[in-house]
Amino acid sequence: MHVLKKFLSYYKPYRKLFYTDMLCAVLASSVDLAFPLILSYLARNIFNKSPDQILHTIAIVCAALLGMYVLRYFCQYYITSWGHIMGARMESDMRRDLFYHLQRLSFSYYDRNNTGDMISKLVSDLFDISELAHHGPENLFISLLKMAGAFVILLTINVPMTLILMVVTVLMLIYSFDQNRKMRAVFYDNRVKISGINARVQDSLSGIRVVKSFANEEIEKRKFDESNDHFFLSKSDSYHSMGRFFAGNEFFEGLLYIVVLAAGGFSIVNHTLRISDLPIYILYINIYTNPMELLINFTEQFQKGYAGFKRFLGVVETEPEIVQKPDAKPLTHVKGDIEYRHVSFAYHQKEGNVLEDINIRIPAGRTIALVGPSGGGKTTLCSLLPRFYEVSGGRITIDGTDIRDITLSSLRNAIGMVQQDVYLFAGSIRENIAYGDPEAGDAEIEEAAKNANIHDFILSLPDGYDTYVGERGVRLSGGQKQRISVARVFLKNPPILILDEATSALDNESERHIQQSLEKLSQNRTTIVIAHRLSTIEHADEIVVITDAGIVERGTHKDLLKSGGIYARYYNMQFEGLEQSEGFYM
Ligand code: ADP
Ligand code: MG
Repeated sequence: MHVLKKFLSYYKPYRKLFYTDMLCAVLASSVDLAFPLILSYLARNIFNKSPDQILHTIAIVCAALLGMYVLRYFCQYYITSWGHIMGARMESDMRRDLFYHLQRLSFSYYDRNNTGDMISKLVSDLFDISELAHHGPENLFISLLKMAGAFVILLTINVPMTLILMVVTVLMLIYSFDQNRKMRAVFYDNRVKISGINARVQDSLSGIRVVKSFANEEIEKRKFDESNDHFFLSKSDSYHSMGRFFAGNEFFEGLLYIVVLAAGGFSIVNHTLRISDLPIYILYINIYTNPMELLINFTEQFQKGYAGFKRFLGVVETEPEIVQKPDAKPLTHVKGDIEYRHVSFAYHQKEGNVLEDINIRIPAGRTIALVGPSGGGKTTLCSLLPRFYEVSGGRITIDGTDIRDITLSSLRNAIGMVQQDVYLFAGSIRENIAYGDPEAGDAEIEEAAKNANIHDFILSLPDGYDTYVGERGVRLSGGQKQRISVARVFLKNPPILILDEATSALDNESERHIQQSLEKLSQNRTTIVIAHRLSTIEHADEIVVITDAGIVERGTHKDLLKSGGIYARYYNMQFEGLEQSEGFYM
């Protein structure tokens, strides 16, 4: 009920289109319904009439038919064009709602769902939905209307015959729906089997080196033959099923005529049916049975569209976990004083806390370094600050204000992040840097690029700042991409900075190159840095060592070396060039 209501709500903006569409459907159906009536009029008025009268009647009939067909032309035109346009508009409304909603959903949603799969599925779902939106009501309406209309006319001609006819059509409908259901089941099986073959082929070809090196071609062929045979059998099944469906339908239709002829013969003999009405009656049977196909189409469309719409609603009705409070205030004149107080956090309730009772204070403009083994929770700790995830306990404040009382956009505008993975959008280098501040002019963009040590490289490219990057653009090295992302943050110019293993994926040479610009970037900003090589964080105002057990050590580089704990041990190891041991990095 809820699903149907939501579905109907998408018709609302196009109410007028919809009603006109239905009206056209009624008019077009009426034309079809009236045709045999006109023939019957013709038959009655030319039998035993003078040539003049015959010509007169023919003229009337032709004029009436012409009028009806012109009317049907306009109706049909409207249904086909505007009906489809209405469906397309609804589809585009739904696609917009979906995209807008996806922009609102929180990170936790994207952790749980494979977006690639989801999107491609939703695209085909939306198509099915729009088909249903347009053809659904029309198919249902036209077929019911025609059947009902023809049925009433048949009743007025002869009641007993029509009741017999009804029994046979009910049987026919039951048969058709049943066969149609079976046919769809085998078609579905076809699709499963063919994707089985595709997977088989792809697997075998991807591993062709392994296949050949083990001389296992025969085994591969046998496995392939098996899938291939399964597919063939499934295909045969579907053709048998199609045969039964189409042949069966035709047979039932033939049966209808036989039954009617037999019943009609009796009725004529009993004087309950005029001879001239029998052909008219038979014409109406045609009008009565034709819409059944539409009706079957409708059920198919309905099932597909309904399932698709339910999946669509599943996404659109997922509430984002991170929302802005109605009374949230924007963060202004940020100093950048950050405090984590008794913060705990779990990604999933049942999996236990990743962070437990964390207390950290970073005075404005200072730098804190987080170090510790992989999986200790450093990245998690950072992602709580821009509210990518919500703390489970405790609170985080910026300049004394709980981050939950700050508007999301001003909070996130105050924080710049440089991470290990860089994402460049499809577009020019200029556009990618300008992502940090869409209003920036060319001079500011170039200034940011200079600060990130990438300006000269960009100029050396044939298209300079207009060079196309992204998935299908020029291939940039990891270091070049990272410098573009640093330029982005320079342009954004946030008071707070998070550097999460920004250089971990780079070779020593590129790392040195970027290190300078990162140091420049962190000047006069409150900075949280997580870095691979401990030598790069020696000058941090505080170093916090985080392991599975929480914060285990904290202090300045000097303090920590003096106390001779975990940090001192790993620092010395790295210093001696043994940094790869045990994966303790930052
Ligand atoms: P670090 O940055 O110190 O290597 P992380 O903060 O990435 O550690 O991870 C801390 C723990 O949280 C790990 O056990 C990791 O498996 C888990 N974790 C990280 N991200 C997610 C996520 N999106 N969903 C669920 N668990 C996560
Ligand atoms: Mg991490």
